[in-house]
Amino acid sequence: MRYRTIEDVKRLGHPVIDCHMHVRSERGDPAGGLDIRHCDQIIEANAKLGITLSCVIDLNVTGPQPYEMFHRANDRAAAAAARHPNHMRAWCFVNPGDPRAMEEIEQRVRDENFIGVKLYNQHRLDDPMLDPILDRCAVWGVPVLSHAGRPNDAETRARQPKISDASHFAAAARKHPGTMIIEAHLGGGGDWEWALKYLRDAPSVYVDIAGSVVDEDMMDRTVAAIGAERLLFATDMTYEGSMAKALDAELSNEEFSGLMGRNFQRILARRAI
Ligand SMILES: [Zn+2]
Repeated sequence: MRYRTIEDVKRLGHPVIDCHMHVRSERGDPAGGLDIRHCDQIIEANAKLGITLSCVIDLNVTGPQPYEMFHRANDRAAAAAARHPNHMRAWCFVNPGDPRAMEEIEQRVRDENFIGVKLYNQHRLDDPMLDPILDRCAVWGVPVLSHAGRPNDAETRARQPKISDASHFAAAARKHPGTMIIEAHLGGGGDWEWALKYLRDAPSVYVDIAGSVVDEDMMDRTVAAIGAERLLFATDMTYEGSMAKALDAELSNEEFSGLMGRNFQRILARRAI
């Protein structure tokens, strides 16, 4: 069926998980503390929409910044999870090119129960530099969520020269078949239809449905290409678009339940540390 409502989400009877959401710092200061007001607003919005768990990453560190800034960003995500322990969990955000990235991952994921590793666009996912991180996540049974896109215009490509597209996700998955890799925001950063042909043959790659592109039939064509078991609900701060995509999609009750939380619960259940 399709055209579900928020009431259908609230009736699911299992955690409804936004696997890719952001918290931010006070006044946007990358060295500052957690913006508590914004953090609490996420919980308020979630209650209205039936979302019961947000998996968060800090938003105010992005580029090639020093290790300390990533560490502070993860402090803010930890503070958010500590403030709402039943409704928020944190991703460990690192620049994989930083020599202290693995140290940060060990502290956050192994010692502080962060979900897994979040990567941005500093290095492509199939760069050999990332091999130790992807291998470690396979051993630990924790997922890797990575920013993604297939920009169609020269200007965006120039801004993100090392952005990973679906071909890089598929290549990384071939090298690390035991690693649960999540391609972020299918509807973010360009040509989602182009991505599907690579995702079809990459069974260990999951896809979050966030992103500001809300093309008609995007969900149905994605389900037709890769099935519903690898799709994960996420907003990446675009609540309306993501919820609309989920509610509008032609899905069985079981598929809808998977999208809204069960598929991600299965990922979390593989944790082995
Ligand atoms: Zn994001």
